Amino acid sequence: MTALTREDFLKLDRGDQLAPFRKEFYIPKGVIYMDGNSLGVMPKATAARVREVTEVDWAHHLIKSWNTADWFNAPRRIGDKIAGIIGAEKGEVVVTDSTSINLFKAISAALVIKSDRSVIVMEGSNFPTDNYITQGLVAFLGRQHKIRFVEKDGIMDAIDNSVAVVSLTDVHYKTGHRQNMKAITSKAHQQGALTVWDLCHSTGAIPIDLNEIRADFAVGCGYKYLNGGPGAPAFIFVAKRHQDKVKQPLTGWWSHRSPFDFTRDYEIGEGINRMLCGTQPIVSLCALEVGVDIMARADIHKIREKSKRMGDLFIAAVEQKCNDNDFDIVSPRPADQRGSQVSLSHENGYAIMQALIERGVIGDFRAPDILRFGLTPLYLRYVDVWDAVDILSDIMVKDIWKAPKYSVRVAVT
Ligand SMILES: *Cc1c(COP(=O)(O)O)cnc(C)c1O
Repeated sequence: MTALTREDFLKLDRGDQLAPFRKEFYIPKGVIYMDGNSLGVMPKATAARVREVTEVDWAHHLIKSWNTADWFNAPRRIGDKIAGIIGAEKGEVVVTDSTSINLFKAISAALVIKSDRSVIVMEGSNFPTDNYITQGLVAFLGRQHKIRFVEKDGIMDAIDNSVAVVSLTDVHYKTGHRQNMKAITSKAHQQGALTVWDLCHSTGAIPIDLNEIRADFAVGCGYKYLNGGPGAPAFIFVAKRHQDKVKQPLTGWWSHRSPFDFTRDYEIGEGINRMLCGTQPIVSLCALEVGVDIMARADIHKIREKSKRMGDLFIAAVEQKCNDNDFDIVSPRPADQRGSQVSLSHENGYAIMQALIERGVIGDFRAPDILRFGLTPLYLRYVDVWDAVDILSDIMVKDIWKAPKYSVRVAVT
């Protein structure tokens, strides 16, 4: 293969049909942002929208805005928009709470439907909150349930007819490997189990077709590829066919059949409203909606194509320019098996990432040794990929990462 040059990347940018989206986002000068898989950048329209919600709807119209500004309906309205991005129907998705809380509700609801079974299959190396929430739920239920932790290669074999729920994340947060959602879902159904899919690293990055694969429950994040802002509300999906059976334990008044009757006793609401709990963060919801609206206009297949190509080129550039520096490529090489990130491992990964961040290349570090680089096709250019690897190579060749300041640990990595 002939060596890659910066010109190759510039040429791809010139032909990139997604390129116009970049100007819709605020990208700080001198920054190559490769952490959109952790916190997406801010759409330029968000600031104006938040001003409107606060200075007009809240300050001026006050409580009337629950009706006049459609605040009350925001979780459903934005849920319907996200449904279009993940292959769900209107009325199957609601935006509410956090991913952690939605996992609690989804797994609880699935366990209620499968009340004659006790095993929950999970991937041990999944993002910790998925495990912790499930462990908390099992402890709360009195430990008659059991979590069967497996790793990727053991998932299919772990699904037998004792399993109530298979709860997995599509794209692994550390390595970027993808699950075969379709095969796992059908195996689960063959064995009489239900699935809970965590789409945190898929939504807005990968075409997902929940109804085509007959998914049961799903949850996902608003602040990663949807660019909803720090701590943006998350979403939860329940397939239509389950909606009249689902019950979740956080039966706050927003999930009541008629919240404004203020009755003493709980009466379960209709459809996806059952997954709501209480009053929602309206300012955050409206900020999230700006990101979702941009994503809904973009062609998710084009996003995926660009992301795969960027990942392939990132790996090729690292191999070309950093070959002598002891990096291992942790993410799968076949682009189809990868999410929208490339992870490298290096024993000095923490210091190297700190040095990169100081040079304007923002990725992140995941203990013990992983450097993650997120690829967000709506605002990352091909040439950014080249320049990021160029800077990485410079940091390695000149031993810049060895400066003691880069080894000082900060709270959030
Ligand atoms: C980002 C992420 C979460 C985040 O959960 P929060 O409740 O928002 O903190 C959960 N699970 C996975 C797999 C994630 O990638």
